Amino acid sequence: MSKLDRMLSREQCEDLREYAEKRQVMLGNYKYSGADIDLIKELIDAAWEVLRVVSELKGTGRKLFTIWLCDMSDGDFAEVKKSAPHILRLNEKYARDKELLKSDYKNEADKGKFVRGTVYLSVVYHEMGHMHEFRNGYVAFAIINKR
Ligand SMILES: [Zn+2]
Repeated sequence: MSKLDRMLSREQCEDLREYAEKRQVMLGNYKYSGADIDLIKELIDAAWEVLRVVSELKGTGRKLFTIWLCDMSDGDFAEVKKSAPHILRLNEKYARDKELLKSDYKNEADKGKFVRGTVYLSVVYHEMGHMHEFRNGYVAFAIINKR
């Protein structure tokens, strides 16, 4: 599949951008992601759920809370780098395929790599826990382990 095959329409991009903006989320690098629009909205909602409570994660100025779609190694759902604790990097492969995200996440949770009983939305909750951790220097288990 080429980059162009994965291009979202102008309307889809606009829809997503607006949806994210209303929930104080910056969305990045999605135009050629082939992302599942409904899945991205669900992930944005999950982020918004946390942002409403932990408002410091909204960020400020040029470092607003961002979901950035990108190529990542196969086993990774998402990550936050210490050097950019306002950016939740989301594996494009999963952004395109909710069923794959659901089943791979379930397998990992069953293995104990993530909290048992949590579902795919916890990818967002977990990474936001790391954001909090990187900002404050301690692990906010309550967030990281949120179901
Ligand atoms: Zn982690």
